[in-house]
Amino acid sequence: MKIIDILNREQLSLSFEVFPPKKATSYETVKIATEKIASYHPAFMSVTYGAGGGTSQYTLEVAKNIKDNYNVPMLAHLTCVSSSRETVQQLIIEMEQAGIENIMTLRGDLTPELMDSDRSKWDYHYAVELVRQLKECSTDFCIGGACYPEVHPESANQREDILHLKEKVDAGVDFLTTQMIFDNNLFYNFMYKIREAGITVPVLPGIMPITNANQVERAIKLSGSFMPQRFRSIVDHFGTDPEAMKQAGIAYATDQIIDLYANGITNVHIYSMNKPDVAKSILDNLSNILGKSFAK
Ligand code: FAD
Repeated sequence: MKIIDILNREQLSLSFEVFPPKKATSYETVKIATEKIASYHPAFMSVTYGAGGGTSQYTLEVAKNIKDNYNVPMLAHLTCVSSSRETVQQLIIEMEQAGIENIMTLRGDLTPELMDSDRSKWDYHYAVELVRQLKECSTDFCIGGACYPEVHPESANQREDILHLKEKVDAGVDFLTTQMIFDNNLFYNFMYKIREAGITVPVLPGIMPITNANQVERAIKLSGSFMPQRFRSIVDHFGTDPEAMKQAGIAYATDQIIDLYANGITNVHIYSMNKPDVAKSILDNLSNILGKSFAK
């Protein structure tokens, strides 16, 4: 099923992001965790892709397993910046053959090695080139793209970032997912600006439940996202008590989702990563709001 066909529902729907194993020995652990999340019947699941292609095969394997055995629509991520056009083309063919209908088109982060290399030799510089390649294929993928309510770190300013986002959407992106946000007001403000810029595709806010204090610094470093004082106080107060911190982090994410839905946002993407217990707690917290669409 194409994700774009799910996004017009009026009922709240949640999707979950998982990541593939880095090596063969952890495949089974990832398989068990992702299958457990799939058994809750989310609207869809996405599988990340290791920049540099390290886990490309596993991204496809995890996505295909869930799609074939759990009938959950799958979104396979694909990054391009450190790959050749031929390699990416081959992966697109493999995804199509595996019956994957949705691809999240990403550039990937610029690693220090890439930054030191000769840019004129790169096949890709921006995600928009991958979007164009997908549209040139005879394939019929539903295409996702990333966006940044707090501005991508490489952009000089938000106006420039939104101009490039518009270019990417006009090239063929069907929907967008945001970088993780911890303050919903940043998302509402961003939506106002991109709609004004003529970007009309559905946008899924990305919510990451922070379940331990160490995750906070990692999440900020990775995403550059703003951490509101309200959330910092929770970490300060509960950070040394793992069980309490987990409960508070899940409650905070649940609160964000309720606020988004109350403000008309029906599709929320959750960076619960490979933690079925976190996914289940959020679903349980929202059981009356979600109605019967999720398994208990
Ligand atoms: P782009 O859309 O290419 O944008 C990157 C920067 O270039 C922006 O500043 C943009 O404004 C600018 N830009 C775009 N086009 C142009 C142009 N024509 N000229 C000049 N500047 C331009 N990384 C992974 O490795 N694997 C994943 O699975 C993964 N999943 C992600 C999922 C989401 C929802 C998000 C938000 C990020 C994800 N990332 C992932 C991280 C992502 O790869 C990085 O944030 C990366 O730095 C940018 O990727 P992008 O696709 O947004 O790039």
